[in-house]
Amino acid sequence: MSPVPPRPSSVIGHWIGGEPAGAADGRTLDVTDPASDRPYAKVAGGGPADVDRAVDAARAAFPAWAATAHHRRARVLHRIADAVEDRHDRLAAHESYDTGLPIGQARGQARRAAENFRHFAGVITALGEEAFRQGEEQLSYVVRSPAGVAGLITPWNTPFMLQSWKLAPALAAGCTVVLKPAEWTPLSASLWPEILTAAGVPAGVVNIVHGTGAEAGRALVDHPGVPLLSFTGSTATGRRILRSCADRLKAASMELGGKSPVVVFADADVEAALDAVVFGVFSLNGERCTAGSRVLVQRPLYEDFTRRLADRATRIRVGPPSDPATEVGPLVHAEHYRRVLEYVRAGREESRLVAGGERPAHLPGGNYLQPAVFADVPRDARVFQEEVFGPVVAVTPFDDEDEAVGLANATPYGLAAYVWTSDLRRGHRMAHAVDSGMVWINSHNVRDLRAPFGGAKASGVGREGGARSIDFYTESKAVHVALGEMRPPRLGGGT
Ligand code: NAD
Repeated sequence: MSPVPPRPSSVIGHWIGGEPAGAADGRTLDVTDPASDRPYAKVAGGGPADVDRAVDAARAAFPAWAATAHHRRARVLHRIADAVEDRHDRLAAHESYDTGLPIGQARGQARRAAENFRHFAGVITALGEEAFRQGEEQLSYVVRSPAGVAGLITPWNTPFMLQSWKLAPALAAGCTVVLKPAEWTPLSASLWPEILTAAGVPAGVVNIVHGTGAEAGRALVDHPGVPLLSFTGSTATGRRILRSCADRLKAASMELGGKSPVVVFADADVEAALDAVVFGVFSLNGERCTAGSRVLVQRPLYEDFTRRLADRATRIRVGPPSDPATEVGPLVHAEHYRRVLEYVRAGREESRLVAGGERPAHLPGGNYLQPAVFADVPRDARVFQEEVFGPVVAVTPFDDEDEAVGLANATPYGLAAYVWTSDLRRGHRMAHAVDSGMVWINSHNVRDLRAPFGGAKASGVGREGGARSIDFYTESKAVHVALGEMRPPRLGGGT
């Protein structure tokens, strides 16, 4: 049975100091449904005044939350995970309706959101502080303190899960937060207030301000009461935010775009590689930062692999997000749909379209696209170089390992890479030679949440995941204590 689509009767508002709130100046923005492109709700159009109020509330809540013992914070995180799980179906339905994610895949994202809270509850419980002893002379130890009010800015793809990926470590570390969700997809974030209330999160610990990036986002980045920012979004926006952080000397964690290669050698397990390629680039509607959107195939396998990939793309079920049989739903927004279609147009000029790239005939409205496969894509093509962030894949042949490394590294991005080969020595060599934050060998995108997550080159700055996230949300202070008799060098003591 497909879930009933959520229809919020009123404006999706901010959540400030434990209370719902509208924009200070009463402005709202339309929220559209990607299956029809019709506005179905409004969201508060926040600006600097709303951000000021939210930061004030977060600052007021900070001392008590920061002083809460780590095991008590961990208990709260587990309760948040419980509250997310209790609302699993509604959450998935909201996410699917608002973003266009197929409902089955939206359910997986809701589960991951709960796991993120359990994971960071475990991390903060297990994490110790360091001590260093210099013989019998001196002991140095480290205390970690939460860094203050964290600004969290999130994108429209898998919005609730990505919000949980920032909220969980920030709260575990003892920060209070102001979250600015993406303006196209605010619906699932509207469930946070009841989730946080059910979990007993004190008022002001989490504050949510909706609005555009140019207004609400920018006000949060520039706010003097916010010493650190965790951002997930496009490389262009990340650059702008980093510039502003540099002027104000703020800490920033940047999870940005990608154009990740999948390198398939002729000795690979072809069936598994094909399944992984199709899932890796077309699941989540291709709107996935770690999508394997460039497939590099060794020449003896190239024609056959490309033909089979095209065949699978042609048979992918494109349909309404609420239909459990749907494999690819509508793209998030008409503006994004136009951008993706422009890449399809460019790809047709630059290479050979071997599948998809058209609106399916049975779906005359909404942002639907049959997944597109481009073959013989040269390395300077736009569909090879630029992040499309939709169900579009570029396939390119290579002859040997050196050429594969050269092609894999031939874009400005470096988020993820995937290698398929039955020669494990080669798999490791490739993993070390490819310039990216993460590499999977003979595997699709299965993550261990303790491992660092993030990108090299234009794909990001910094790593999150496990204890690294806690490092980001805390300040470490080294305390040095003399254990024995300490005789500092004596200046000015001569006679
Ligand atoms: P975007 O950069 O347009 O927007 C992201 C967020 O930033 C939104 O909330 C937006 O309102 C806000 N924003 C925009 N301009 C701003 C400004 N000047 N100041 C402050 N905030 C501002 O990105 P998007 O289109 O929403 O998301 C898609 C992008 O996100 C893709 O490039 C994708 O690869 C990337 N992404 C990266 C990861 C990762 O972990 N590396 C994960 C998911 C998505």
